[in-house]
Amino acid sequence: MRKPLLISTAVAFVGAMMLMVVSCENAVKDTTPPAIHEADFLPADCDIYYTGDTLLVHWVCEDDAELGNYNIEIHNNFDHHTHGTSNVDCDDADSGHAHGSVEAAWVYNQDYAIPRGQKMQTIEVAIAIPAEVSEGDYHFMLRLTDHAGWQTLKAVPIHLRKAGE
Ligand SMILES: [Zn+2]
Repeated sequence: MRKPLLISTAVAFVGAMMLMVVSCENAVKDTTPPAIHEADFLPADCDIYYTGDTLLVHWVCEDDAELGNYNIEIHNNFDHHTHGTSNVDCDDADSGHAHGSVEAAWVYNQDYAIPRGQKMQTIEVAIAIPAEVSEGDYHFMLRLTDHAGWQTLKAVPIHLRKAGE
């Protein structure tokens, strides 16, 4: 009765070791944050959009191991803050245009999944801009996360104008 017990313990031990090796391999494999390609990225810096219109998002993402998911978030830049990324300052291009009330500012925040097992993906998203939001400077924020949890951020300053202007 003693021998089988030892064997099953040994089997369980070896099994646990194999699981550890597998999970370690996964953790070690991906040490690089995912990449957001700059070429043909939409929206482009300082692009102008209109309320009630559609904001077309187009970009290519890549990871050396496996892509995970991404988040698109849009918030007002009425206070002209920056994010420490390569933020282009295009306030001058918008001179003469005041912004609307902060209370009515457009807020957008949406998570998107990328199909499993992808290393490169072209993303196309159409975001409807509400008709009744404040015009002014906004930030388009893209957060790309790979399957291992590394994150890459891109901030794009855009302008929103009232339709008809
Ligand atoms: Zn911002």
